[in-house]
Amino acid sequence: MAQLIDGKKISSEIKEELKAKVAELKQKGIEGTLAVIQVGNDPASSVYVKNKKRACEYIGIHSKSFELPEETTQEELLRLISDLNEDGSVNGILTQLPVPAHIDEKEIINAISPKKDVDGFHTQNVGSLAVGQEGFVSCTPAGIIELLKRSDVEIDGKHCVIVGRSNIVGKPMALLMLRENATVTVAHSHTKNLQEICRTADILIVAVGKRELITGDFVKEGAVVIDVGIHRDENKKLFGDVKFEEVSQKASKITPVPGGVGPMTIAMLMNNCVEAMDK
Ligand code: NAD
Repeated sequence: MAQLIDGKKISSEIKEELKAKVAELKQKGIEGTLAVIQVGNDPASSVYVKNKKRACEYIGIHSKSFELPEETTQEELLRLISDLNEDGSVNGILTQLPVPAHIDEKEIINAISPKKDVDGFHTQNVGSLAVGQEGFVSCTPAGIIELLKRSDVEIDGKHCVIVGRSNIVGKPMALLMLRENATVTVAHSHTKNLQEICRTADILIVAVGKRELITGDFVKEGAVVIDVGIHRDENKKLFGDVKFEEVSQKASKITPVPGGVGPMTIAMLMNNCVEAMDK
């Protein structure tokens, strides 16, 4: 039976460390403020925004929220971002995604100053990650690296298979695992023999958005399995992209859903906000 990788516990440890760092910075007169922009009132987004504001409060930084109506135009949103870029009291800016269909998401992401882009989505930050330079890293994959390191999983020289190639999870995950000296394979919806490839993984990271796609047959005995997926059934019970009961019989370590990768995303957002205070 696999050992659980406890994202709740690890994320709490990180938030405690950040709280101490923020207190130290405050003593030097440095304050932190995260600006959170939400366009429209998608209920899932509202929950995420509320959790982000609560996490800011917990570690001791300010949050400013901008709740804009659904019909906000691209120009209005760009003007707000430009004002926040210029505002010296704001160190971090994020726009909660998804934005309504009439707004060009890419333009919005790239309008945020790379120095305040605490989501790590700006093309300049993604490019910096690709060439091994300093910059903000996308929170979910950065959180997975922390989960692995703090659970004593050796990454150097291991074969890591990542299933999924999205801009916010799969691709930055591959770059981060390369930075940690893993041998990396990225599988996606056009990959042939997915099962066979997954079975070669020492570390299997799954971010496909398909409930319980990965069964025991996809996993090598003793592999470490990280499940990024989040699915809710009609009774609000949560599931991942991995069939937990089967896979935990074969894996050596595994993240649960909920309580695995999920809590790490906000912890790493807070980490980026604290980094932004020092810039
Ligand atoms: P996405 O839809 O942008 O990307 C999914 C990827 O999976 C694509 O690259 C696609 O090629 C690949 N894929 C789809 N079907 C496949 C198949 N049958 N076989 C192999 N590859 C396949 O999704 P995303 O934004 O990367 O999110 C993935 C999942 O992770 C979702 O369930 C999402 O809710 C969850 N998520 C969780 C967190 C968190 O904080 N825990 C953060 C982001 C995303």
